[in-house]
Amino acid sequence: MGNETSFSYKGATLTADVVIVGAGPSGCSAAYDLSVKGLRVLLLDRTDFPRKKSCAGGLTIKAARALRYSLLPVIQKTVCNLSVSCRMRHRRLLKSIDPICHLVERSAFDFFCLKKTVAAGACFAVVKRIDQIVESPRTVALMTEGGLIRSRFLIGADGVNSRIRRLTARFLKFQRGFAVEGIVDRAPPAGLGMGFDFGRVSGGYGWVFPKQGHLNVGLYTLRPDVKITRQDLVDYALERIGRPMPTRITGYPLGMGGWRYRPGNGRVLLVGDAAGLVDPLLGEGLYHAIISGQRAAAAIVDAMDTGSDACNTYANGLMPIQHDLVFARVASAFFYRMPGIGLMLVASPPARIPLMTGFSRGISLLDIFLNAYRFWFGLPGSVSRKQD
Ligand SMILES: Cc1cc2nc3c(=O)[nH]c(=O)nc-3n(C[C@H](O)[C@H](O)[C@H](O)COP(=O)(O)OP(=O)(O)OC[C@H]3O[C@@H](n4cnc5c(N)ncnc54)[C@H](O)[C@@H]3O)c2cc1C
Repeated sequence: MGNETSFSYKGATLTADVVIVGAGPSGCSAAYDLSVKGLRVLLLDRTDFPRKKSCAGGLTIKAARALRYSLLPVIQKTVCNLSVSCRMRHRRLLKSIDPICHLVERSAFDFFCLKKTVAAGACFAVVKRIDQIVESPRTVALMTEGGLIRSRFLIGADGVNSRIRRLTARFLKFQRGFAVEGIVDRAPPAGLGMGFDFGRVSGGYGWVFPKQGHLNVGLYTLRPDVKITRQDLVDYALERIGRPMPTRITGYPLGMGGWRYRPGNGRVLLVGDAAGLVDPLLGEGLYHAIISGQRAAAAIVDAMDTGSDACNTYANGLMPIQHDLVFARVASAFFYRMPGIGLMLVASPPARIPLMTGFSRGISLLDIFLNAYRFWFGLPGSVSRKQD
């Protein structure tokens, strides 16, 4: 990141109020809120920024709204319509008057968020190895290759393969989805919108996201037993958009199963992919990463102010997220078993209108469903649970 924002701790014993491991969206969201409240925050990552992260960069309206600052400088495109198909057939365009999603490049987005977080007061440092975590009633000690770091609380924001989760043996029922993505170096043809091809992969979909000067293509599955290969992606891209072939192909797991995550007690909180908070229906992880980081921060601030139990407060804050995850899990079990019928239902006006309106208003999937249910069955009041 450069000297003005880097932080050297080699050979020293450091103390901070909160140490956050992982400077992705979940870690930065937590660090930002804690720093604004005046806490001493040390944000650690194993790589310096900017760095590459496998991600299609679809930032829904609810995710963009949850952030504490404007994202304008890093938005590449804003999308109103969705093109959807079942196994590349019966393509339909789902239209919205208002935007439903922004498209960003993850390396630029993450670097931007980190710079905002450092400007808010957090210290950033690169840590190559974390060997051990020792929790005591009042502190957490992190043994790293650079020295010992002590803090009042530790947030594990280090993604799907979280070292913090493994070292503290928290959340053993963690699950993984998987996605492969690539870049097609070609300007998006006029009229090519954000597209999803459901059922192209068992338990998932193929996607095409048009960005500035290139297309991001990929395949996603929520099923850990389904293997997606590089060749699958090449075949999909050729069939969907023709040549040139995708390059810079990478595959990466997504953290799931977070409806079962219980923070327990102690001083270690997991957020984002580390806590398995990716929505299994659509593979969206950024929104829950951002708001879980913020809720962990709020729980810690409350604990430091009032002496409350941070894990307990965080568990309460996670509940609405976990309700959404349970809904997404049930919906995905139905949808991916019969994507043709599922898509027919989604594209029918009773579902399509509340869905697209809900996306543009930044409402969670569960609330979109509840709103539609109330509306179509003539029940009073619509639900718009405020998540952030
Ligand atoms: C191919 C693909 C496409 C996706 N597309 C979308 C999309 O379009 N929209 C969407 O909402 N979601 C998408 N997701 C999911 C989204 O990328 C994740 O949910 C999101 O990045 C989670 O944020 P996070 O901060 O929890 O973790 P991450 O973004 O993974 O950040 C974790 C950070 O921790 C650091 N770290 C890891 N291990 C250590 C360690 N041992 N020590 C120190 N630091 C460490 C990493 O370097 C990284 O900076 C996609 C995922 C994949 C794989």
